[in-house]
Amino acid sequence: KKVLFSGMQATGNITLGNYMGALKNWIALNNDEAYQCLYCVVDLHSLTIRQDPAELRKRARTLLSLYIAAGLDPVKNCIYYQSHVSGHAELSWILNCFTYMGELNRMTQFKDKAAKHADNINAGLFTYPVLMAADILLFQTDVVPVGIDQKQHLEITRDIAERFNSIYGDVFTIPEPYIGKIGAKIMSLQEPDKKMSKSDENVNATIYLMDDADTVIRKFKRAITDSDNEIRYTDDKPGIKNLIDIYSAVNDKTPAEVEKEFDGKGYGDFKLAVGEAVNTVLRPIHARMEELTKDKAYVDGIIKDNAEKANYYATKTLRKVQKKIGLPERI
Ligand code: ATP
Ligand code: MG
Repeated sequence: KKVLFSGMQATGNITLGNYMGALKNWIALNNDEAYQCLYCVVDLHSLTIRQDPAELRKRARTLLSLYIAAGLDPVKNCIYYQSHVSGHAELSWILNCFTYMGELNRMTQFKDKAAKHADNINAGLFTYPVLMAADILLFQTDVVPVGIDQKQHLEITRDIAERFNSIYGDVFTIPEPYIGKIGAKIMSLQEPDKKMSKSDENVNATIYLMDDADTVIRKFKRAITDSDNEIRYTDDKPGIKNLIDIYSAVNDKTPAEVEKEFDGKGYGDFKLAVGEAVNTVLRPIHARMEELTKDKAYVDGIIKDNAEKANYYATKTLRKVQKKIGLPERI
């Protein structure tokens, strides 16, 4: 089986973009016997930005629960917290010593985030990609589903792994990007030339998976479009294009079919239809989420079992690495 690894940060509330672009593709692999999948809540990465402790804990739990509520099977997949598997941090330290400052200096995410958090440009923010490399290499991952925003980090992961292997022999599997069924890239509802992002300060720009039905409708009604009133799929109309993408993805239709469906209708009707379509996706997720919130013992059990499983595989790689680089063996 091929090992597939992916994760999300617990930095904000998960969005419709995260669902359409990532989670939905993960769920589609539930029954694919070709892959052994690990899905991590990368809570250590979240520490690169100052966090409120109670909030972080709550958001990490919500994110892990949402993975399950959205349909990710917690028995077939290993769903766990990064911080529960100490191998992530241990391997990350080792890989730090095989990564060059110059390489990290080139990372565009660092530049973006450093500009955004000028008051807290910590070393963790700088070595973020090394921890990500450790996440991936720890499980001898074959494939990593990544959005375009994370491509550079997968490349540096490969570079670090190849560098390490060239010195010590074949220790790490070199991971490949996994291109799933074309996951829609969802744009901001307020600035449709920017992607929808969970760290956007403008809450109206983003549909959160936990938004209630009225909020969803309200946000779509306020979505920025253009001044004519025609529902056409074109780059000249990024707002409408984005709404068509969302509607297409939910209803499994092509943009052309959506254009036809709304031929002669106005933006008001269309926005309402998109909002309702999204609500049909969110409704069962909310229902399942409510059950999971009540069943604390069930979720706790998943957390415990999966952390054990992940630890087992992580330790295997870690011991191999420690031995190769000359750290004393355990007696
Ligand atoms: P942040 O602003 O904190 O970076 P994010 O919304 O970009 O938040 P990530 O945790 O960086 O979320 O990414 C989680 C996953 O969701 C990644 O696979 C990423 O490619 C995907 N993703 C993020 N935003 C979108 C989007 N707007 N459309 C489609 N996929 C997305
Ligand atoms: Mg991101």
